[in-house]
Amino acid sequence: MPSKRFGVLTILVILLVFAGCQTVPLTGRSQLMLISEEQEIKMGQAAWKDFLKKAKISTDPRADELVHRVGERIAAATGKRNYQWEFKVVAEDKTINAFCIPGGKVAVYTGILPVAKDDTGLATVLGHEIAHAIARHGGERVSEGVLAQLGAVGLSAALGRGDPQTVQSVNQAFGLGVNVGFILPFGRTQESEADHLGLIFMAKAGYDPRATISFWQRMEAASKDKSRPPEFLSTHPNSQTRMEQIRAWLPEALKYYQGN
Ligand SMILES: [Zn+2]
Repeated sequence: MPSKRFGVLTILVILLVFAGCQTVPLTGRSQLMLISEEQEIKMGQAAWKDFLKKAKISTDPRADELVHRVGERIAAATGKRNYQWEFKVVAEDKTINAFCIPGGKVAVYTGILPVAKDDTGLATVLGHEIAHAIARHGGERVSEGVLAQLGAVGLSAALGRGDPQTVQSVNQAFGLGVNVGFILPFGRTQESEADHLGLIFMAKAGYDPRATISFWQRMEAASKDKSRPPEFLSTHPNSQTRMEQIRAWLPEALKYYQGN
């Protein structure tokens, strides 16, 4: 009975969604979460290992010190204890980018350092990137991907596929969902949330969150140099809405700021 199978899968999906919701710290947003944090950290570790195999790690001790100095302060400000933080500088002068993988694995490309300009500028970048991990945006993307794939499985079940195949399809759905979740850039809600949390983390770490505005202005200027396409800006468009949101969050962030 194909329709019966479809019904069971639909119920499964609904149960997963209900069981799999949680709240983001500080912003209180409810998010879809179908994987445990341990799973997410494990996936992050595997992705980080792969990345390190290919990445050209910088040998510049000053860049390394800068990234560790700022990164460790931001990491401490998050209060996240089950992460094993690692910070690496990637020697790519033309790449204006940085990221933080679930589990606390942070990479900063040398290309973003002149745009960051100083510790506070880098704190804006790292506050934002680390906020993506703390808010579990990777796990959320994976969950959205899994759900989309499960929807497709439900459809194929409705078309009358056999049970063993359905089971296999559910497994594949998880695999595909995980791939989609780790590859695609974050959505607008997640970007705003990372801006918001990033301001709080930088302020808690002792960096003036008001400096974020001038960082984004420098990023905008850097985007005009066509020889260095800024990946960071292409996934983080410097829109007016975004600047207005950041300005609106500043009073809240400043409550956490007690000077350097
Ligand atoms: Zn982002």
